[in-house]
Amino acid sequence: MPKFNYLFKLLAFLIGLVIVLETVSYFATRLIINKAVTHNARSELLAGGELFTRVMQKNVEQLALSVKVLTEDFGFKDAVATSDEKTIASALVNHSARVKADIGVLISRDGKLIASDETFAVQVNEEFAALQAQAQARGQAYDIIFIDGRAYQFVMFTVKAPVVIGLAGMGFEIKQEFSAELRKLTGLEVSFVRQQSAGFTYLNGTLLDDQPNLLVTQLAQQTLGEVFIYDDFISLAVPAARQNQQLVAVLQVPLSHALAHFSHLNWQLFVLALVFSLLAGIAALFLARSVTRPVTLLATIARRIAGGFYATPIVVKSNDELGDLAAAFITMQKAIGEREQQVLYQSEHDPLTGLPNRLLIFPHLQAAISRSGVLRQSVFLLVIDIKNFGQINDELSQEIGDAVLREVGQKIDRLLTHSELLRLGSDEFLAIVMAPDKTTVQEILDFIHATFKTPLQINGMQISVEMNIGVAAYPADADSADVLLRRANLALNEGRVREERSCWYESGWDEKHLRRLHLFREFEHSLNAGQISLYYQPKINLDQPEKLGSEALVRWHHPELGFISPDEFINVIESSGQITLLTRWALKTAVLHLRRLLDAQIHISCSVNLSALDLLVDDLPAYVAELLQSQRVPAEHLVLEITESAIMREADKCLDNLRRLRDLGLTLSIDDFGTGYSSLSQLKKLPVAELKIDKSFILNLDSSADDQLIVRSTIDLGHTLGLSITAEGVESEAIKTLLSQFGCDTAQGYLYSKPLPAEEFIRWVTRYLAELQHE
Ligand code: C2E
Ligand code: CA
Ligand code: CA
Repeated sequence: MPKFNYLFKLLAFLIGLVIVLETVSYFATRLIINKAVTHNARSELLAGGELFTRVMQKNVEQLALSVKVLTEDFGFKDAVATSDEKTIASALVNHSARVKADIGVLISRDGKLIASDETFAVQVNEEFAALQAQAQARGQAYDIIFIDGRAYQFVMFTVKAPVVIGLAGMGFEIKQEFSAELRKLTGLEVSFVRQQSAGFTYLNGTLLDDQPNLLVTQLAQQTLGEVFIYDDFISLAVPAARQNQQLVAVLQVPLSHALAHFSHLNWQLFVLALVFSLLAGIAALFLARSVTRPVTLLATIARRIAGGFYATPIVVKSNDELGDLAAAFITMQKAIGEREQQVLYQSEHDPLTGLPNRLLIFPHLQAAISRSGVLRQSVFLLVIDIKNFGQINDELSQEIGDAVLREVGQKIDRLLTHSELLRLGSDEFLAIVMAPDKTTVQEILDFIHATFKTPLQINGMQISVEMNIGVAAYPADADSADVLLRRANLALNEGRVREERSCWYESGWDEKHLRRLHLFREFEHSLNAGQISLYYQPKINLDQPEKLGSEALVRWHHPELGFISPDEFINVIESSGQITLLTRWALKTAVLHLRRLLDAQIHISCSVNLSALDLLVDDLPAYVAELLQSQRVPAEHLVLEITESAIMREADKCLDNLRRLRDLGLTLSIDDFGTGYSSLSQLKKLPVAELKIDKSFILNLDSSADDQLIVRSTIDLGHTLGLSITAEGVESEAIKTLLSQFGCDTAQGYLYSKPLPAEEFIRWVTRYLAELQHE
């Protein structure tokens, strides 16, 4: 599933990207927030510190005012001057209460201390004494003092009347309430610690649990007056007073507290990241689909093209690059389709005549056959051949030949209105005709021939053409398209041989044809495998019975096909050209056989049959000469038989070779004489020495007066030309006697012997000669 893969990858990539970006931005935001928060907290702390200082200042001013008022009060001065302790004490209490001071004191000139709180007096110490001394010297003093572990803001003035009669002072204790109040005021955590050389001590403050302890340990490492952060706190420690640095106020902002404002922001960031991821996913999905859909489409088109479908229209919606590509693909698909259509048309049509060519024979034939059943008609296949086309092409020109083909094609096509015409190749056309019966088709055939009675007009020339037509019908002659075509072709060939312009296929022809094909395929193998041999039939001189000749006759015993008569296969291999193979083999075998006979002191000649084709091959005489020489067989022992029709067909071409053969010293014989139509004058020109009268004239010689006439005149004619006469097919004593009477020289036939294998033939000869001697 490549589509899914791609989608998945894209999705993963985009979502991943969003997650990474979100994470980075989250942390960046947090960092910025933290920085901002710390910064805020710092200024908050500094502001708190300032406020704290002012509060302390205000306290001092308040104390100072109150003490000043007290020291200028006449009643109080009086009480001090008179050492009226009771009045002093009540004044101290009243005045302190008015400013909410925690303590008020008076020290008389003789050093007696009267305090609003009696316990306080007991605990005064050096610090207090220092403050006292300072007030004594300057008239007033302020400081933070520690008494019994408690811190006090303390102000002291001299009491004058007008000489100094005592010292009056008032102090605020730095208490838990104070830090609580300060917290309310500043919004900060406030703690008071005492700094001593031994370390810090927590006095009081707003911290809870063990936070005071933690603070104390932290402070040891910090510098006063600077912001520091530990645990959850951003902190600032400041001395509570300039004079006494022992008291330190610590102002703090809990980080979580400060960040609390931003915590919802965190949440928002998270939700935002989630939303973005989701959006990215959807976008990726959309994008991927918009990418993959055209790609999938393209793949589909490509597959269709590969599969050979070009026509299916595909709709492309997107108008981006992929859409363009898809459109290009579709255009290509169309173009390929059209071109293939064109190529297909060209490949299936003949450019010269525009007719469908042989590629379409079977499709069309098949279609006609399947239609025929429904239509209750037969399919007639006509193979039409221009009889003299080769001649036209050779003698006129190829252009004219082409014009003739075009013209003929058009003419026939016009004639066969309801039929299909195809060009089979070269000068052959094929017509598929649907018709109810043979008569209809015969009329068509006649019509075609009639049409071509008028010569064609080509380049101002009149050219006569004639058609050969072979016809076979489905289902009468064949049950399939290929058989029908083969049989129509066979009919054409048979028509050519018979010189009939129209020839209908007849049953059995195809089988014969197939057997010929089979023989032709088998022949060479059989020859090499020794399945072909030469038999020998004796030829007897009627005047001198001891003068023997023989004829070598080929025998083919095929392991499957059985005995195959030479009458059947000789013309097969003649038409296939394999005859020269057979001839050379026969010549060689016969000459070897002659050598054997000579070795056995048997002096007889041997006739070997030649075919017309052999005489067209130039090196036959050379081959024969060489053969005779190599086997040391005298040339006069070898006779070559050539059928009359063969010589006459190619007389001029053969003549040269015949002369050369005769000059070698061997005898040439005309075979099957009487079946051809050779004239006396022709016969005279040939370098032959023997005539063999065809057995058709001999077999019934005793009963046929006609045959007797022919045979007798042939013998006479032959003799006048100086030829020796042989009669073949001599089966009876009566015929032999007749032949003797007619003056025939030699007889050959079953009367003496059938053709025999070499061994048997030698035995036959030996016995024959022996019997002759006995007589
Ligand atoms: P052919 O040359 O006319 O051979 C004579 C044929 O007559 C032989 O038939 C032979 O068997 C047959 N014959 C001989 N005496 C009698 C008889 O008393 N009565 C009858 N009814 N027939 C007789 P075969 O052997 O079947 O040969 C047929 C033809 O095949 C031959 O006719 C010849 O034309 C051809 N042939 C045979 N062998 C060869 C060959 O080696 N080369 C070529 N080119 N043709 C051959
Ligand atoms: Ca012969
Ligand atoms: Ca013959």
